[in-house]
Amino acid sequence: MEKRQIVLASNNQGKVREINECLDGTAFRIVPQSEFNVPEIEETGLTFVENALLKARNAARYTGHPVIADDSGIEVLALKGRPGIYSARYAGVNATDKDNLNKLIEEIKPLTEVDRKARFVCLMVYLRHADDPTPVISQGIWDGIVIAEPHGPNGFGYDPMFYVPTHDCTSAELSPAIKNQLSHRGQALKALIKEISA
Ligand code: IMP
Repeated sequence: MEKRQIVLASNNQGKVREINECLDGTAFRIVPQSEFNVPEIEETGLTFVENALLKARNAARYTGHPVIADDSGIEVLALKGRPGIYSARYAGVNATDKDNLNKLIEEIKPLTEVDRKARFVCLMVYLRHADDPTPVISQGIWDGIVIAEPHGPNGFGYDPMFYVPTHDCTSAELSPAIKNQLSHRGQALKALIKEISA
């Protein structure tokens, strides 16, 4: 069966890999926007959903294809939800995943265990075309605890410092398949695919 092709409005290799894994066995496949040389846009929104829509619209306008965009991040309760929408640029505009991780580790060191409650959030949108007035929108939330001693080889971004109580390990220690079952991104994508398959 020919799969329906959707552009993914992201150049984040970690996201591209996870979304591809989740789509295995579905009628859809994603092509990263880098294959169309889509220029990145500034994420000027103040919410995950605004930023996801900005990215999706930009990629749909540029490619002329249907698009999925995900805007995601980690929120630490005691830090009033920081880094939140700024997760990818927490340590500065050109910060690497490692810079961002190290900055958050320094910030949580003074926090007690109770204060270290955190969650990953993912807002995902699907646009049929750039001017689509009824985008399909889904959200996934994954609760955990941030720790100051990162470990685990898998995943990306903040995974090594995100402790998952249900599995007694960090999300970087989970296999990719288990992370996709539990994660904010896995949940949001599952709901989105259900909606657009109907
Ligand atoms: P976005 O590309 O603007 O949505 O930024 C998302 C940022 O949030 C990433 O660069 C990561 O730092 C972080 N993030 C989102 N999802 C995950 C995840 O599943 N694991 C680890 N970090 C994540």
